[in-house]
Formats: sequence, C-alpha cells, structure tokens
Amino acid sequence: MVYELIIVGGSASAVAAGIYAARRKLNFIIISKDFGGEVANSGEIENYPGFVKTTGIELSEKFKKHLASHNVFPETGIEVKNIKQENNRFILEADKIGKAVVYEAKSVIIATGVRPRQLGIPGEEKFRGKGVSYCTVCDGPLFRNKIVATIGGGNSALESVLMLSQIASKVYLITINSELAGENTLIDKVKADKKIEIICNVNTKKIIGEQLGGGLEYKEKESSQTKRLKVDGIFVHIGHLPNSQMVDLTEKNKFGEIIVDRLGQTNIGGLFAAGDVTDIPYKQIAIATGMGVTAALSAVSYLNSN
Ligand SMILES: Cc1cc2nc3c(=O)[nH]c(=O)nc-3n(C[C@H](O)[C@H](O)[C@H](O)COP(=O)(O)OP(=O)(O)OC[C@H]3O[C@@H](n4cnc5c(N)ncnc54)[C@H](O)[C@@H]3O)c2cc1C
Repeated sequence: MVYELIIVGGSASAVAAGIYAARRKLNFIIISKDFGGEVANSGEIENYPGFVKTTGIELSEKFKKHLASHNVFPETGIEVKNIKQENNRFILEADKIGKAVVYEAKSVIIATGVRPRQLGIPGEEKFRGKGVSYCTVCDGPLFRNKIVATIGGGNSALESVLMLSQIASKVYLITINSELAGENTLIDKVKADKKIEIICNVNTKKIIGEQLGGGLEYKEKESSQTKRLKVDGIFVHIGHLPNSQMVDLTEKNKFGEIIVDRLGQTNIGGLFAAGDVTDIPYKQIAIATGMGVTAALSAVSYLNSN
C-alpha cells in the first residue's frame, strides 16, 4: 500500500499533524518507537495553553484520546531506520520489534524529536539504568529518601531537581556554568528549596564505585580541586540530540537538526519535519504542536498539487 502521508513520531508534533491529517481525510498512518515521547517525560507542565497545570503523562493521554476520537491509532514499537526516495515515492525502512518492515508514501512528516545527550565520562555506561538515568519522571520515584544528584543547569535539570526534592532526602544540582540558566520562575523555586544544594562551575569527571551508590567525582573549575560526592542516583539533563539520523536526504544544520522553512518543508519536496527534530530554536510542546499542524497542512497542499 502506498500511503498519502506517513507521520513518524508519537508525540506532540506527530499528534497535531495526525489530527489535521485525519480531518482532511488523508490515507495516512502514524508510526513511532513509543507514544508520548519527551512530553511523557516532561513532569509538570504549566505553559501549554488551556492547561494551567498538568503533567506530561496526563497530556500524552489526552493526545492519545484526541487521536482516537478521529479513529487514529498510532502504531508503536516501530523504529524508522532509513528514509529514501524512489520514483517520487518515499520508502521507509524500519524495525518492528526485531523484524524488518518497509512502508511507502507520497509524503512524510518527520516528527522524531530528540534524545538525551550523554556526559561521555567513565562509569556512565556501566551505571546506565543502574543509578544513572536520563529521565527523572521515569526513574525519580525509585530514589525515595535517597541522596541524588542532577547534572545540568537548564529547564529540564531545574524540573528534575524540583521533582526529586519531593522524593529524595537530599538533592544536589551540579552545573558546569557559574549560574543557572532556564526560566526565572523555576530558578526561584530551586533556590528557595532547602533540600536542594546547588554546586556551580564544576566539571563532572566520573561516576565512581563498584556498585550503585558510589557517587561521582567533579573538578572545581576555579580551584582545580577534585571532589567526591556520595550519591545513590544521578540524573543527567545536559541537553538533547536530534533524532534525525534516519534521513540523509535532507539538509541539516551543524547540530544535526533538520532544516525546515516556515511551512515545515525540508529541501526535498513532499518531505516535511516538525517539532524538536528541526532547526527551530525553541523546543516546547506548544511550538511542536503548531509545527505539526503546519507540516500536515503543507503535506495536504503538496498532495493536491502533485
Ligand atoms: C524533562 C523535560 C521537561 C520538559 N518540560 C516542558 C514543559 O514544561 N513545557 C513544554 O512546552 N515543553 C517541555 N519540554 C519540551 C517538550 O517535551 C518538547 O518540546 C516536545 O516533547 C517536542 O515534541 P516532539 O513531538 O517534537 O518530539 P518528542 O516529544 O521528542 O517525540 C519524538 C517521538 O518520535 C519517536 N521517534 C524518535 N525516533 C524515531 C524513529 N527513528 N522511528 C520512529 N519513531 C521515532 C519517539 O519515540 C517519540 O514518540 C520538556 C522536555 C523535557 C525533556
């Protein structure tokens, strides 16, 4: 079967694109590794219009219900590995729970978002999933009454320590910069929280110990002194990398983000991108949904004229 449109991704931008594609009655599917993406990992959300306060998990449930109301049920467990073009069609080569599958479409929206950046220090791989986590919402509850550290200094690190302070007995926020970045409201909350201790201007050097609970070693940038911190869990929130590796056809910027114009078009006709995977500077749910809508409407225009 040749679909009119395939949307790759299962989060904010893909959902918004899916709602518009359904209302335009396109013959389309949504395929994704998971449903919810980074939205589901977002913890408390207080800046998505219409929702004074919600959580990432609640919002992704609402996204799912909204799609279902249009009889759209994203297929998850599918990782797109390669997107190529043959005879004016897009061929998507994917892995479906260990099995190779191929999809074909006249147009594609890439809405694959980002993945967490790693520290790249000794011990990180060894303790990954065993004390080192990249998702506070997912793993934070495992550290009740324990001592934890979050590495990073932007919004997602700030949200991480605020969540952890409700669970853990002590929370360190370790940042390479001399000051915290991110939204002032979050910074104020973090600074006011007595359980959170901020350690600025340091380089995290290694995760130590033979087993979970060893801790970490960092070097103070000013004094060059190396210090150790005994912690049970380490949460890494130092930015993200775009999930754009499955496509070589499109132009990307130096960060690997897919370059799109204001209509969500890449440099290849019929191939669109939306949300955090693109070169848009601000990575937010409201922006990702808006871009998903734009990309879907652009895909409709493309299909009508090709
Ligand atoms: C800790 C944290 C807190 C945040 N808090 C907020 C907040 O309070 N407010 C706010 O507006 N934003 C917040 N954000 C940012 C927000 O989560 C993102 O802007 C938003 O999720 C982007 O949506 P997206 O659809 O572009 O991509 P994502 O949410 O990243 O989803 C990408 C989707 O693509 C799928 N995928 C990836 N690669 C492939 C592949 N090869 N094949 C198939 N599927 C694939 C993934 O499984 C996923 O479903 C936060 C982010 C984090 C990490």
